Amino acid sequence: MGDVIVVDKTIDNDELVFAGEMGSAQTGDHASLTPKHTPWNILIVDDDPDVHTTTTFALRGTDILGHPLNFLHADSAAQARDILASAPDIAVILLDVVMEQEDSGLRLVHTIRTEFGMAETRIILRTGQPGYAPEMDAIRDYDINDYKTKSELTRNKLFTTLTSAIRSYRQIRTINTSRRGLDLIVHATGELLALSGIRNFAAGVITQMAALLGMRSEGLICVQHPPSNPSPQDDGTIIIAAAGRYAELINMPLDDISEDRVKDALINCLNAGKHIFTDQHTVLFFSSRAQRNMAAFLDAPISIDESIRQLLEVFCTNISVGLENTLLFSQLHDFAYFDSLTGLPNRRSMINKLDERLLGGERGRYTLALIDLDGFADTNDALGHQYGDDLLKAVSARMRSSLSGQCNLARLTADTFAVLGLIEQLLPATLQALFRTPFVIHGQEVILSITMGIAHLVDVDGDGSEALKSAYLALRRAKLHHRGEYAFFTRDMALEIRERSRLLQSLRTAIERQRLFLVYQPQVSVATGKVSGIEALLRWRAEDGRMIEPSRFIPIAEHSGMIIGIGEWVLRMACFQQAEIIRAGFEGISMAINLSVAQFRHPHFLASLQAALTDSGVDPHLIELEITESVAMEEIDFLSHTLDAMKALGVHVAVDDFGTGFSSLSYLQRLHVDRLKIDRAFITDIATNERARRIPELVIELGHKLGLSVIAEGVETAAQVQVLKALGCDDIQGYFYSRPVEPPALLEWLKNTATDTAHDA
Ligand code: C2E
Ligand code: CA
Ligand code: CA
Repeated sequence: MGDVIVVDKTIDNDELVFAGEMGSAQTGDHASLTPKHTPWNILIVDDDPDVHTTTTFALRGTDILGHPLNFLHADSAAQARDILASAPDIAVILLDVVMEQEDSGLRLVHTIRTEFGMAETRIILRTGQPGYAPEMDAIRDYDINDYKTKSELTRNKLFTTLTSAIRSYRQIRTINTSRRGLDLIVHATGELLALSGIRNFAAGVITQMAALLGMRSEGLICVQHPPSNPSPQDDGTIIIAAAGRYAELINMPLDDISEDRVKDALINCLNAGKHIFTDQHTVLFFSSRAQRNMAAFLDAPISIDESIRQLLEVFCTNISVGLENTLLFSQLHDFAYFDSLTGLPNRRSMINKLDERLLGGERGRYTLALIDLDGFADTNDALGHQYGDDLLKAVSARMRSSLSGQCNLARLTADTFAVLGLIEQLLPATLQALFRTPFVIHGQEVILSITMGIAHLVDVDGDGSEALKSAYLALRRAKLHHRGEYAFFTRDMALEIRERSRLLQSLRTAIERQRLFLVYQPQVSVATGKVSGIEALLRWRAEDGRMIEPSRFIPIAEHSGMIIGIGEWVLRMACFQQAEIIRAGFEGISMAINLSVAQFRHPHFLASLQAALTDSGVDPHLIELEITESVAMEEIDFLSHTLDAMKALGVHVAVDDFGTGFSSLSYLQRLHVDRLKIDRAFITDIATNERARRIPELVIELGHKLGLSVIAEGVETAAQVQVLKALGCDDIQGYFYSRPVEPPALLEWLKNTATDTAHDA
């Protein structure tokens, strides 16, 4: 670029050549990013009007390197500045050195290069004074291309000079564009990788591609789905990003594009697996190993030269890697947020949606309904998993098609679905109506009943997962009553929850501070009137001295798992207490200890039972473990196995709260228990109501038929004792004999009754 051209302004008319002839010789060249007929801007700065006219006349109609010339004129440095300020895209400036002042031209050069920062524009200095040599420093410093005296301004020379200046201008621009392009690619790749989701990624590709080509974002991108693995959200080839006038095509299948030119271009590109460049458009191909190739269509009516093409290749290769990652991410995203069986969003996406709604400031209008299929687990067991899966798919299909598109659906767990929508769209009756028509599964009609928990978002304090918890709470409440019902979440329920978590917290502290203790309630044999056993019952005295009911804290301890530790402690305490009672001289009195399900299921249970027995030295035959009927109902195989293991240690087993659960007689036969305990609820009215005796009567008879002894609890009056005696009950426990008391009082009581024989009725 060091060659300096100086043109003489004195035109030699003989050398005039006509434009057409010269221009046509140059058409082999392609302009890089310049649309075909964009002219080269040439600025002539000269205070001599003749120079303007002769120059333009000489080059009239001439094409250089395939483009016409467009002349801009300034007759002073000041005017030139104005033009430059508004028209930066100037290829060449023909600049007179001496104008208003000796150095006007050189000062203008300084302005162009430093002030306007126009580094690409070529400058040709002209002087009317042959022999005048501008300072070489200036020429070097300001990147002046050429230096010609005006006498050298012949037609031919002018053309040659301009051609070489324009060629050099174009080269500089291409290099700069490439450099900018590479910068853009590096930047674009970084930007794109930061975008999550294939759609964002594709939209980013359009933007970055348009930036690379230096044009407006006008185009679209489609992505293929492998035929083998259609996603539940979309299948086939889908437009996943669109900009400019194509914007409305977003999310449409490729086949639905009405503009054939665009559709064919994309199809050809995907089929051929390569980029397509035409005068009309550019279609880029992005490959992906996952068979989810992507094609980007850009309305780019420009001729793209080799260097830009190479840039685009680099871009595409880079982006394909990014595409691969993004697809992987999308897949992970799908796994993370969608249920693969039904294609519905899962719990996590529901929480996100809820968060959105809760933040949206419209919480007053929305409600969340949980829909639980009644008896699904049984259906699954009875008819097989394939049937169960098909049933779930049918349910989700029905909900999808019947509920408004504004509702958000999700499958939370096996048979629990969630719908989030406007309150008026999700009335309980509306939802129940969805299940009135039978489902047809494997050619068979089935009617499903559902139980629902509904939470209006306005009642929810906190975030999406809190909303879900609230609805679950309502669902649990609904299930408690009857299947097929629904319940609304209320603030009272929330209060209860808060209360429970406070209680849990204090229970932790209570355990640390040893505020739990045991009380003992005697059991009296009807036959002998003597004490036959004692039940150990847990107590908690709060810091303020108040007693907290076991019925309040034991369920919490069970839920939190704390019951394992507590239960083990109870077991040991009661065993040691039993040994002490024996040492105190009361022979043959057994100790009944309550067991919780969680304890029973715990793998270390048998070991800790064994340890409690050994460490305390009790006779295992005098230990009776009470399990509740609901436990006894569950998992009969596991249960009978554990029971047998327990019994092998020598302990007895009683079924507590007998009659409150839904027991089947067959389990009593299979489980080796020793005693049935009639729940207090069946005792209360036996003395006053003839009919109320029937259940205790039945239980006693049943127990005896099975060879079990029967004990009644919650006996408060002599009349109740009389009735139970008449019915043949074996043992009696209740306030009538004694409230549960602490060991010193118990020992006192035992001493008194031993001489006295229990206060018989
Ligand atoms: P449960 O096993 O059915 O215990 C009998 C409950 O009836 C005890 O209530 C007892 O104090 C009460 N009771 C006894 N006689 C009478 C009476 O004549 N009239 C009335 N109104 N009530 C009487 P408590 O001690 O409040 O215990 C409640 C429940 O907490 C127990 O019911 C048991 O399920 C559970 N529980 C107590 N201690 C333990 C324990 O150490 N471990 C486990 N897992 N559960 C325990
Ligand atoms: Ca009990
Ligand atoms: Ca009971």
